[in-house]
This record gives sequence, C-alpha cells and structure tokens, in this order.
Amino acid sequence: MAETRAAVITGFNQPLEIRSVQIPELEPTAMLAKVEAATLCGTDVHRWHGRVATAEMLPFIPGHETCGIIAEMNGERRDLLGEPLKPGDRVLWSYPTCGHCYWCTVAKQTSHCPEIRVWGGSRADQFPFLLGGLADYQYVPPGCDVIKVPAAVSPASAAAAACAYRTVMHGFERLGAIAPHETVVVQGSGPLGLFASVVARDRGAYRVLVIGAPANRLQVARELGADDVLSLDEVKDSADRVKWVQDRSGGRGADIVIQCATHMAVPEGIAMVRKGGRYLSVGVGGDAAISPTDFWRSVTIIPVTMAEPRHWLQAVRFLESRGAAVPFDSMISRSYKLEQATEAMNAMANFEVVKPVIYPNGG
Ligand SMILES: [Zn+2]
Ligand SMILES: [Zn+2]
Repeated sequence: MAETRAAVITGFNQPLEIRSVQIPELEPTAMLAKVEAATLCGTDVHRWHGRVATAEMLPFIPGHETCGIIAEMNGERRDLLGEPLKPGDRVLWSYPTCGHCYWCTVAKQTSHCPEIRVWGGSRADQFPFLLGGLADYQYVPPGCDVIKVPAAVSPASAAAAACAYRTVMHGFERLGAIAPHETVVVQGSGPLGLFASVVARDRGAYRVLVIGAPANRLQVARELGADDVLSLDEVKDSADRVKWVQDRSGGRGADIVIQCATHMAVPEGIAMVRKGGRYLSVGVGGDAAISPTDFWRSVTIIPVTMAEPRHWLQAVRFLESRGAAVPFDSMISRSYKLEQATEAMNAMANFEVVKPVIYPNGG
C-alpha cells in the first residue's frame, strides 16, 4: 500500500509529527492532488490548540486551504464550469454538501448544509486518510466542485482563496452594492481584512479604512491601497477608535463596517456604523453581547458563514483579473517546508505573519 508524507497533529499544542500516511484507493470520480501550496488559516491554529477540535479527531492533518495539481483520477470529472479535468490541471476544490437537505434544495444556502464536509480535521488513520493540506498529496472526494486556477494566480494566493478569500466574496455578495460615496471601515488586518479592503475598494467605496495590528500587517494594508489605517497597539481605547472613524466620516460614522476580526470586535464595530448603515460580519471566534439600541439605529447586520462553490471561483477570478494592479502575494508573508509545519503554526498563532504558506513538494 502506497504511503505519502504528512504533517500530523497527534496531540493538542504538541509539535506536528511528520508521518507516513496511507494513500487511499480512489473512489469512482475521486482524485488525488499533489499539494502545490497549503496556506494556514486561523482555524487551523484553533484546531491545533484544541479550541475547535475534539480528541476523537486525532490524529489529523491540518490545512483546509490547498492548491493542488491533479495527479490521479478515477474516471472522468468536470470542473464547476463543466470543463473536463485532466491530470496536470492546477485546482482548488470546494466542500461537498449532501444535496438533499432543506438548505441544499429549498433555501439554496448550501454552506448551512448539516452534512457539509470540511478539510483539515479528519482522522489520518481512517479512509480516505488524506483530507488536509499539510501533506504531499490530498484526496479530492467525489461530490466537491473543482475550480481550475488561472495560470496568472500564484499557488499560494490560490490556496488562500480556498477559505479566507472565498468567504470574503460570499460576504460581499450578501452585503450588496457599495455606492461611490460610501466609506468602508474594515476591522482586522489579517488575511480576511486585507482581502476585504481590496474588494471594498474594487466595489467602488469612497474611502477604505483599516483598523488592526501589528504594524507589519498594517503596512501590507497600505500597500494594498487602504486610505488610512489605525493601529490597535497605539490606540487602545475603544471610544477613541470610534471617534477616529467618525472624524473620517463627517461625524456620522461609516456607511459600512466589515468585521474581519473576532466576534469580540462586534460591539465596537457596530458603534462605528452610521445610523441606517450596514455591518458585515465575516470573522469568527470569541463572543460579545450587542444591544437592541443598535437595531433602533437601523444598522443592518449581515453575517456570513463559509461559502458556496461559486465563491471559490469568484475569489480566483478576482485574484486573476486584479492581480496586475494589486500585489496580492504581499499577504503571503513567509514560506515553509513540510518539516517546518510547527514553526508555521506558531508564526500564525503569534501574528508574526499575515499568511504562512507551506510547500510540501518545494515552492
Ligand atoms: Zn479557514
Ligand atoms: Zn445538504
């Protein structure tokens, strides 16, 4: 039985182990992808720390942002657009849903399917073994939509489209149009916030303001075109941050605030929205209470959960079509070999990097 290398989480907060993991027999229409680039997301760190993972999940291969090259296929398969796939194609693949529940069939909100399968948290000792990106190969099960990656998009940026960027595209779809007079504030300067700042500018915002930390991330926000940035390290008082936004929005507050930080940032973010404005909540984690007073100010609150297959496509096409003007790869801060997976996880956990990328097969 053939095996391949993977960086495996065998215990929470423990260094990842490089293990040989079985390569599964391919189910009909399943594929095996050679991992070109695997980027880390905050969720990978939360799972590693055991915050959003249980002991029954161990051992597992983390990584749910993977760009891969099709290495093997068991039968014909087409991509999201109906184009035939072949070995050698560079691809992303979405999360499969059941196709027959209320959310899949009636509501058409497939990211709420109770049977949705996700990557980066499945046991590496049970079929199909390879469901995480921190490995030489990842299994692409039947039933997920496959998205071809345009040649102009780097494998690392494409990988980031598989979670962070496609969630942002879903959020903007739910937000609706941005008028040319509207000021947008982005809470958070991680991958979600930085990408959201670029999309907000692209959708026609008058001004885009980014609030975050640390300084290296805010520097990237400026490089990507933010009009102004506010450092959480420098302005520690929430009321001062709200005033900073009001000072830049005619004293009214922002037309739109996009939360790309944890849920703890929500009350402050809603306070930054003008009467009748919109609040888009993309980031997850933590908890906070909001007051009915916020509803009396007619702030529309729009949450988003994961994404649907078209958002994967939108994310890679956005990277492709805007890539000549926007240095997207500046969000990919540092690259690692598979053996350095623990180092990459720590760098993400400590906010040393915007997004670390792992090249198991060499970058
Ligand atoms: Zn993620
Ligand atoms: Zn379903």
